[in-house]
Amino acid sequence: MTTQLLLGQTLSFTGDPFLQPWTDCVSHHERGGVLIADGRIAVVGDRASLQAAHPQATVTDYGRDLILPGFVDAHMHYPQTRIIASWGKRLIDWLNTYTFPEEMRFADPAYAKAVAEETLDLALRHGTTTLCSFGTIHEGSADALFSAAEARGMRIVAGRTCMDRDTAPPGLRDTAQSAYDESARLIERWHGRGRATYAITPRFSPTSTEAQLEALGALWAANPTCLMQTHLSEQVDEIAWMRDLYPQARDYLDTYESFGLLGPRGLYGHAIHLEPREIDRLQEVGAAVVHCPTSNTFIGSGLFDLVGLKRRGLSVGLATDTGGGSSFSMLRTMAAAYEISQLRGTAVHPAQLLWLATEGSARALHLDGLVGRLGPGAEADLVVLDLASTPAIAQRAARAEGLWDTVFPTIMMGDDRAVRATWVAGRSAPRPA
Ligand SMILES: [Zn+2]
Repeated sequence: MTTQLLLGQTLSFTGDPFLQPWTDCVSHHERGGVLIADGRIAVVGDRASLQAAHPQATVTDYGRDLILPGFVDAHMHYPQTRIIASWGKRLIDWLNTYTFPEEMRFADPAYAKAVAEETLDLALRHGTTTLCSFGTIHEGSADALFSAAEARGMRIVAGRTCMDRDTAPPGLRDTAQSAYDESARLIERWHGRGRATYAITPRFSPTSTEAQLEALGALWAANPTCLMQTHLSEQVDEIAWMRDLYPQARDYLDTYESFGLLGPRGLYGHAIHLEPREIDRLQEVGAAVVHCPTSNTFIGSGLFDLVGLKRRGLSVGLATDTGGGSSFSMLRTMAAAYEISQLRGTAVHPAQLLWLATEGSARALHLDGLVGRLGPGAEADLVVLDLASTPAIAQRAARAEGLWDTVFPTIMMGDDRAVRATWVAGRSAPRPA
């Protein structure tokens, strides 16, 4: 058995810091260590006792750097990596101007492969070890991402995006039948293979017909261990558009619910402008909503009610939503979540932000216990953060008092320069040039 001992500060959570005082659910070792055996975390504890008990382990000493579970990005679009930070549009124009022309290029498997590899290497550079991504309507777009993740040993959730309504451009439209058949083939090929999970992926109800939503609902019913990912109530204009297309629907969520696309393994990205009934139903079924704060400010969507929805008992994940989101960094994403909560009148604690970017997202993806947690039995996907990675952060950290005062400047000002190392399944991920 190969054992690795990583030394540094360790931080782990024993509960949800949104539901109980964060002081009751944080375990911190200032001089800590993580023992890894066969790709899983075996022990987290005090460095001296771990070194004494495991003298045969290969030691990597990160000094005062902070060892955390690798970040979990619960909603993103890898096909949009190359259009990140495109200027000046709101959701519907942004899709038509930038997104759809780029997504057409994924008909070419070589292009899909190149962008999939580039995206996963960017994720690892930023300390993100698990992604949940949309593909394009091309079956090969999902194959490309699953293959690239498998080659890197990464845990991945992904799906082929489905759009058959004439609101999507010609060339980027499938049918109810082809969406069903190609998604079913991908489930057969990838779902549960190694570290892969398949997510059935209607882009959102404005680009699908009722027939397609119904077909995908039937596919989910036939494959209930799959996840289902889509978008919900991102922008006010989008909701008005949805109402034109689905005049009979009680609300936006109803366009999914009516066709079997509401369930405990459902992931609803954005969920900013929710009706009371929608919140009730999401809570009742145990579905997850995914907060994409840099996207919400970049595209001008609105202020997600993080604290309110957590108080209501909803499962909430955190995500970059690249390329609508403006950063690949989950540190920058936590900073934006903090800023949006401030605009709503609540200062979210750094413990809550770190929990959301790891365990919170893992729970949303039904991967809790496997990733997002620094504890025995979890897969050894880790990020090691330098808490003084730039001169601006270092001068602030130098006068910090206590753990959270030291960590918060890196959350607010950090990026990939703060990521000293990323570990995937117990192996240090090579840092791409
Ligand atoms: Zn999205």
